[in-house]
Amino acid sequence: MNLGNWQLDSVSGGAFSIDGGVAFGIVPRTLWGKLMPPDENNRVRLGANCVLARDGRQAILIDTGYGDKYSALDRNFWSLETGSPVLEGLARLGVDAADVDLVVLSHLHWDHAGGATQLDAQGRLVPTFPRARYVTGRIEWQDALSQAPELLTAYPLQNLQPLAEANVIELIEGNTEIVPGLTAVHTGGHTRGHMALKFESAGQQAMFIGDVCATSLHLHRMWNLSYDTYPLVTRRIKPRLLGEVADAGAWIIWPHDTRTVCARLERHPQRGFEVVDRRAQL
Ligand SMILES: [Zn+2]
Repeated sequence: MNLGNWQLDSVSGGAFSIDGGVAFGIVPRTLWGKLMPPDENNRVRLGANCVLARDGRQAILIDTGYGDKYSALDRNFWSLETGSPVLEGLARLGVDAADVDLVVLSHLHWDHAGGATQLDAQGRLVPTFPRARYVTGRIEWQDALSQAPELLTAYPLQNLQPLAEANVIELIEGNTEIVPGLTAVHTGGHTRGHMALKFESAGQQAMFIGDVCATSLHLHRMWNLSYDTYPLVTRRIKPRLLGEVADAGAWIIWPHDTRTVCARLERHPQRGFEVVDRRAQL
């Protein structure tokens, strides 16, 4: 997709399967099961959608998918793809890991930050993108490295510690312009430091909304991931962001939808919002 000066491309960070109840929070299976039928283990298939943004000067990757550092047990539990999905996705666009200048992480859960690090030939954990700076929110980084017992399982340190050791992390606060035409929008909700990413150029906009609205089925205020750390915040911020997208005629980019990676939205008198102009790729 061309958005003014930006060339935006979809990159798959790998599909995975999670329990449908986890994917839809308090919504009963009788409702979500019709829209996203689960497998025999009650699991639904999600994508880990990343975005490659290029403007002729720099290559920016939004999120990294789950990477390739998993045991056979984990691979089976989540039905993970083999190999390194994000690197294979980039290669299909003719982009090498060393071509990426900047990695922006919406938040630091495993399915977004797992691809940020990898094992090198000597078995050491290193940043996957050797030339890149890595940007994320300061609050998110603090929570992820806090070792607080209630957050431990959400943030495997092997995805993060190598970035700290290589001194490639850059922390931002609140709503910040990361580079001209790319702004972080602090949302909270899903995690305390979670952010959406907004692209703007030549009067056009696209918003990578992140996990405050995981798929095109999550538009309703109450349809949210069970992983949300602050569900009330998600319920408040999501309608506001969706309204901004609809009113600006912007594109919305979903992080976990396997069929609709992006679309436009219109306000709807009963349902709040409806999806128009669905696209499987950017
Ligand atoms: Zn996620």
